[in-house]
Amino acid sequence: MSIDLDALTPHPERLAERLASLAEFHDSTRPGWSREVFSESYRASREWVRRQMADAGLDPVVDPAGNIVGRLPGRRGSGPALVTGSHTDTVAQGGRFDGIVGVLTGIEVAQRFRETGTTLEHDLVVVDFLGEEANDFGISCLGSRAVAGVLRPEHLDRVDSTGTRLGDAIERFGLDPHAALRQAWNPGDVHAYVELHVEQGPLLESSGTSIGVVTAIAGIDRILMRFAGRAGHAGTTHMADRHDALVSAAAAVLAVERAGCGAPVHGVATPGCIESSPESMGVITDRARLWAEIRSVDGTWLQGARRQIVDEVAEEAARRGVRFDVEYLTDQDPVPTDELLQDVIGQSADRLGLPWRAVPSGAGHDAAHLARLGPMGMIFVPSQGGLSHCPEEFTAPADIEQGAHVLAGTLATLDQRPVVRSE
Ligand SMILES: [Zn+2]
Repeated sequence: MSIDLDALTPHPERLAERLASLAEFHDSTRPGWSREVFSESYRASREWVRRQMADAGLDPVVDPAGNIVGRLPGRRGSGPALVTGSHTDTVAQGGRFDGIVGVLTGIEVAQRFRETGTTLEHDLVVVDFLGEEANDFGISCLGSRAVAGVLRPEHLDRVDSTGTRLGDAIERFGLDPHAALRQAWNPGDVHAYVELHVEQGPLLESSGTSIGVVTAIAGIDRILMRFAGRAGHAGTTHMADRHDALVSAAAAVLAVERAGCGAPVHGVATPGCIESSPESMGVITDRARLWAEIRSVDGTWLQGARRQIVDEVAEEAARRGVRFDVEYLTDQDPVPTDELLQDVIGQSADRLGLPWRAVPSGAGHDAAHLARLGPMGMIFVPSQGGLSHCPEEFTAPADIEQGAHVLAGTLATLDQRPVVRSE
């Protein structure tokens, strides 16, 4: 059966209305849009998301990991499903588009399939994954990790800055943390996963391109560097006799930046936060800690950059007589998207006459975890000024509609394939 792509044109007013309605759920005491995981505004918004899925005919359920899962039954009645979705939580003082457009376009596309009487072979599953953004517990993508089978018991014991365990926060949110650990889907459950997301970077807008076909999701290495020197009197200790931990950490900040500046096109290195003690004027610091991260879609570069940073920092610290050790906090490898899915997304854009280009994703996404379960692809739409994770984050309505239309075409094409497999 060939599918009439024109008939599946998304409903612009409905999409725009849903975007505006979901944005209403935020903490109005702070600037921008704050709807962090486990917050009251997030709780309220999820009930609204559930209702939208129900209105679209998706018969939603909330799984024990907190994912809101809607399903449009296909002709086959069972077997692997086409899956799409994203997240509706935000960072603190974030925007109205990151994640949100993936969930709302997923609902819209499913609704258009239903309204046009287009019955797919496969079930179409639309998911609003729980808590994708980085949180105070230091673990992002809670819901997509759970379905991918990589949410672990030790994650539940992590504590936030108030001393609350993640497991307790999940429970307080009305979910069952132990059942969440058993939410893993089977690899055979996913025919293909396609996520639409805002680019969060400037490449599409600056090149006048409507659609980004994502080639890979960047790997992220987080590095904690610890420096131990010797405290001393700032007035009487000769410069040559110092073992100043803070100065070593400051040199490390520059080593991180140097690694990033030497990166190929899609590598970045960022010193995130520095702490030292004693925090006192008149005293030479004896302790310092520096958190840094490097990201790239190129795993070889990541490894090399990590080694370069650590070698340079170790040498510099040794020269000052400062003890140095290092801990790697997360080590997420780059995740390439499926090449066949890249082709199908590009062809869907071509059929609609939309210019597209291949782009890497510097940000992490639920899709990186879903890739464990089946072939994964991502569609990007432009971010105005490349801005994201801030109130100024903006994607034009026409870009979201076009992205939704490409998503519809991609899902319809993948539905026709018995198996999605790159050659
Ligand atoms: Zn996101």
